Amino acid sequence: MTFSFPYARVFLNEGRERASLRHHPWVFSQAIARTEGEPHSGDPVTLLDAAGNFLGYGIYSEKSQIRVRLLSFREEERLEDGLIASRVARAVMAREPLRARGNDGLRLIASEGDFLPGLIVDQYNQYLVVSYSSHAMEAFRKPITAALSELFPDSPIYERSDARSRLKEGLPVRNGPVRGDPPPELIYVRENQEILLPVEIRGGHKTGTYLDQRENRRLASTLARGAKVLNCFSYTGGFGLWCLLGGARMVHNVDISGPVLQVAKAAVAHNHLDPGHCRFIKDDVFEYLRTAREQGESYDLVILDPPKFAESAAHLKSACRGYQDINRLALSLVRPGGTLLTFSCSGLISPELFQKIVADAALEAGVDGRFTRALRQDEDHPVALPCPEGLYLKGFEVTVG
Ligand code: SAH
Repeated sequence: MTFSFPYARVFLNEGRERASLRHHPWVFSQAIARTEGEPHSGDPVTLLDAAGNFLGYGIYSEKSQIRVRLLSFREEERLEDGLIASRVARAVMAREPLRARGNDGLRLIASEGDFLPGLIVDQYNQYLVVSYSSHAMEAFRKPITAALSELFPDSPIYERSDARSRLKEGLPVRNGPVRGDPPPELIYVRENQEILLPVEIRGGHKTGTYLDQRENRRLASTLARGAKVLNCFSYTGGFGLWCLLGGARMVHNVDISGPVLQVAKAAVAHNHLDPGHCRFIKDDVFEYLRTAREQGESYDLVILDPPKFAESAAHLKSACRGYQDINRLALSLVRPGGTLLTFSCSGLISPELFQKIVADAALEAGVDGRFTRALRQDEDHPVALPCPEGLYLKGFEVTVG
């Protein structure tokens, strides 16, 4: 009786319904047998198993490998604006405890983690920054803007839909104001009450900074008292600021980009921290680590927060090698009794795999160590139970010696 379902219909191949039955939001093109009703990108569809049983409602995308993003798994729950608006409101509410703990930079909506696949909304002080990466969310631009405007009537909204992944979806790149005036080039947001973190909404990485490392930056400050710290891939120096606050004797911030280090430097002054206790080194981290090792340098605390090495499954092997190399080099610079905080933000690398990479790196470096903490993205980057892929940032505290 498939004709009773609304929307165009997408039928799965025999035996390919398991993920959808588990409420996973992604339907890959290979799982699809046929479609009825000629859906185009952005159109709502009903997903059915090979026998014609209802699985869910979602939005179709002609070009993406993820052909359908499912938004509802209940037959009576149609894809109406109100459904999306209520998810926006629920996600915003869930951030209140974090806001109450002195955070003015918050991820309000974390894509699949908030059941809005392909939508990121970050708040930096009064500014909201939206980033759309799927047709599923593009289809609801109007109700999303309306819901945000209702929740934050005085907030300008700026759009940073300029990730490369948009091209895979066949979506145009956008960077500009949606509502109100564009924000200034550089602003500061309070992080965990104590630090003013620099944010470049219009031109910075992601939507302006890396909110996902908030709690790990605070952890670093507790390890920094009297320490000589190496902050690799520092970006605008978030970890370095927290280490200075924690009483570091010296912080070396290393990044390949000159402009981000200028911002990092300005942020030290903005926080009234002592510029005499930090250095900003424009260098390739691999080169820096090799040279430092040759020169017999050592550190009490090393932080390794590299960009994503594994962009796709095809890059997995070389990414693993890259992670192992920097971890080996970094571990050989940590003095006995010191600590390495090491991260991977590649979704394709599981925590188990990353743990093995770090263990192998220690073996190669001839260093003894213990995993003393497992780390992850902060709580405003939640992971929906049916979609474990949402856990992209993982890390370890390794105590050396
Ligand atoms: N730890 C930061 C975020 C790091 S983002 C924070 O908490 O805010 C990754 C950074 O690595 C970017 O600033 C990028 O410029 C830098 N980067 C990328 N490749 C690099 C390389 N080979 N050597 C040094 N820095 C690099």
